[in-house]
Amino acid sequence: MPGHDEEILVPLGEVQRLALSGARPLPPVQMPLDEALGCVLAADVVTSEDVPPFANTAMDGYAVRAVDTAGAPVELQVVGVLGAGAASIVGVGPGEAIQIMTGAPIPAGADGVAIVERTEAIADDDGDGGGLGRVRILEPVVAGMHLRAPGSDLRAGSVAVPAGTMLSPAHIGVLASVGAGLVTVHPRPRVGVMVTGDELVELAADGSALPLAPGQIRESNRHALLATLRRDGFAAVDLGLAADTEEAVTAGLEPALGACDAVLTSGGVSKGAFDYVKVVLGKLGASAGGGVHELSVALRPAKPLVISWLPSTDGTSRLLPVFGLPGNPVSSLVSYQAIALPVLRVLAGHRPAAPPSVPAVAAAALRRQPDGKTHLIRVQVRWRADGRLGARATSGQMSHQLAGMAAANGLAIVPDGDGFAEGERLEVIVFGPIEAMTEEADV
Ligand code: AMP
Ligand code: MG
Repeated sequence: MPGHDEEILVPLGEVQRLALSGARPLPPVQMPLDEALGCVLAADVVTSEDVPPFANTAMDGYAVRAVDTAGAPVELQVVGVLGAGAASIVGVGPGEAIQIMTGAPIPAGADGVAIVERTEAIADDDGDGGGLGRVRILEPVVAGMHLRAPGSDLRAGSVAVPAGTMLSPAHIGVLASVGAGLVTVHPRPRVGVMVTGDELVELAADGSALPLAPGQIRESNRHALLATLRRDGFAAVDLGLAADTEEAVTAGLEPALGACDAVLTSGGVSKGAFDYVKVVLGKLGASAGGGVHELSVALRPAKPLVISWLPSTDGTSRLLPVFGLPGNPVSSLVSYQAIALPVLRVLAGHRPAAPPSVPAVAAAALRRQPDGKTHLIRVQVRWRADGRLGARATSGQMSHQLAGMAAANGLAIVPDGDGFAEGERLEVIVFGPIEAMTEEADV
């Protein structure tokens, strides 16, 4: 065992590649369309129908023969009224028009629509009130105007949504528009969260907080990690709090292996005497042949990390990735964002990729000491008046200072060295909303 001084720090990129090695998308399932938001489509959806299915009007007005309106203003005889959903029984002959509402089919004979705003209705003048009257068309109608051709959104036989697409609300609408009520998607990975620590006090089921005894602190990682998983579109599974014993950690993990696709644990992966997560994942990973890596990542915060692959007990014997995240509240979230999330995204059907980052400039200096590690500094990223993003460190950058994380919407990637001067360009992993620019927003 190398002592603390000879500890080998593994570069973040190498750890990310290791974590992603062997990660495969979960086998596709059929899912009701309305449950599939955020899931990744596993097969092209080809439409067998034209959308729209028939020529219809884009505007309220009168269906006419364009040729009849060339000398506008002209008067035409109204021979019918068509609402959306009605099928036209009569056609439009010479000198005739049919009043037509948005979405109604274009009647036979008509080739254009005079919008209602450019017409004047003339009441029936034969006195019996039974006719539909006449209409004065004030401007010539151009053939094809205000018509929606069949297939002008999607043609029958074309790919409506390609495989690999993460379904947005608009995609859900497109799939409904082609009648795809069931879709073939990669399921949302079920990700378990187990926290460890004898010092931790949970919130009571009714939401009340018990008094803290000496040495105790409130448990927060489970809440934060479960919420993060839900935010990222995964099915979060609460595996509870395990005491700092080998038996408790083993017992806490067991149900997860049959009910989850991946597991996150927090705490117990450092060099402390009661750090049993490392011991348990080490033993289980080694005996299962899935492999285990006890790592010191060249990263601050979030240096300690265990990655293990444990066999599922759901009968498939596939290997589940298990991430032993560090217990410090900021470290666990940073480790998730930088290392676990890319793997969970692959399970969900996304292509393997490091966490995406965006260019920004340092709104104030981001200083650090050289220490062989990449620092991920919690920053608030905002739009500047010059159209660039400005990143400013939040206050409270130690790994227990969760408030400093909560005030941030990004992690500035600060490579080993002495950091960035104000105005220097850098990359930020953005994980929260960026406020729209207001006049005061120039940071
Ligand atoms: P560990 O990684 O278990 O050595 O924990 C590192 C630090 O994080 C310690 O100060 C723990 O008390 C704290 N910690 C660990 N787990 C949690 C948790 N679930 N919620 C809040 N703090 C935690
Ligand atoms: Mg602990």
